Amino acid sequence: MAKAAADGNARTWSEVRPQRRAAIPEGLWLRCSSCGKMVYKRHLEANLHVCPECSFHNRISAVERVKQLADTGTFVEQFSNLAPTDPLGFKDLKAYKDRLLSEQIKTGNTDAVKAGRCFIKGREAVLCCLDLTFMMGSMGSVVGEVVTRSIEEATRDSLPLIIVSCSGGARMQESGLSLMQMAKSSAALARYDDSGGLFISVLTDPTTGGVTASFAMLGDIILAEPNALIGFAGPRVIQQTIRQELPEGFQRSEFLLKSGLVDRVVPRAQLRNEIARLIDFAGK
Ligand SMILES: [Zn+2]
Repeated sequence: MAKAAADGNARTWSEVRPQRRAAIPEGLWLRCSSCGKMVYKRHLEANLHVCPECSFHNRISAVERVKQLADTGTFVEQFSNLAPTDPLGFKDLKAYKDRLLSEQIKTGNTDAVKAGRCFIKGREAVLCCLDLTFMMGSMGSVVGEVVTRSIEEATRDSLPLIIVSCSGGARMQESGLSLMQMAKSSAALARYDDSGGLFISVLTDPTTGGVTASFAMLGDIILAEPNALIGFAGPRVIQQTIRQELPEGFQRSEFLLKSGLVDRVVPRAQLRNEIARLIDFAGK
């Protein structure tokens, strides 16, 4: 620019400015929902979907979670043949069977869970991940059954069990059948505990309702990702019930760590290491 000015042929910015901004290909950049900064999508993926600017932990699918935790190529999925039915003929805004079908088409999964055996930094384990992308990770008969079978598998083969929870709670479309999953999975965990098993429960954003009220809080060790919403009922319901202001950060991982409901808050990048370390520590 300085040289051009010296030539006496300098053009003003308005003359040289491109008439249109170069189009940014869609989906290459994402705006962080926490800090609002633009983040290059590839950087975000390489950073395990944690914002490189503000460390916000974005929600991820069960498929992505398995990819992040299991040693490459070691995950062998189990129980994926279980598919939900609609025994109550439930209908809200949409018939449950139609809702299931559209979720199955959207996600390519039969229900909101992925489970199987894998190695985590060389340690063999049973890994079970709830899937938020399928009906908010809600627990119906299939999720409850897959969780329970995973626990039973770990019991039978004396393997460590890792369940990664993210769920809106029990699936209302299956009503009482969903609630029965709480007792079923908890009873299986009691048998696993009797057999001396190690259950590491990982709570991620959000872990709520019947999932929190059953297996998610029954871990021998309970880990949580930073700033995850963890609770039973939503804050609004609680506030209206007890008619009191709720403390700052109520129902977030860090708050629950202070009150003793969570053992450790672990950033996503350290989760694999931490799980492997705990398995060694427990001598499993
Ligand atoms: Zn951010």
